[in-house]
Amino acid sequence: MNIEKLHQLCGETLKFLGRNYQIYLAVEEMAELQKELLKDANRGRSVRDEIIEETADVMIMLEQLMNIYQMRQEVTSRIDEKLARLDERLEYYRKKEVEDGVVGN
Ligand SMILES: [Mg+2]
Repeated sequence: MNIEKLHQLCGETLKFLGRNYQIYLAVEEMAELQKELLKDANRGRSVRDEIIEETADVMIMLEQLMNIYQMRQEVTSRIDEKLARLDERLEYYRKKEVEDGVVGN
């Protein structure tokens, strides 16, 4: 993935097509990914290719949301905080795995 090209194209798309259109598109792409994930989880259908397609769409639109809301730094900091909390929570399961030899599904 060429990050510089992604940033350039997202910036141009925002300029030419507008903020609200990009927000609608982000929501639409997230819904498409949700639909494919539900097909996989609920129906056991093999939709790996569709999940790849929609994940790529969502990742592009997340980048666009970073541009629209000028929030890259804040989001990055929030991710770091959430990962630190997740790491703490996982410590319980790591200890349990060692003690019981049991891991959840
Ligand atoms: Mg899509």
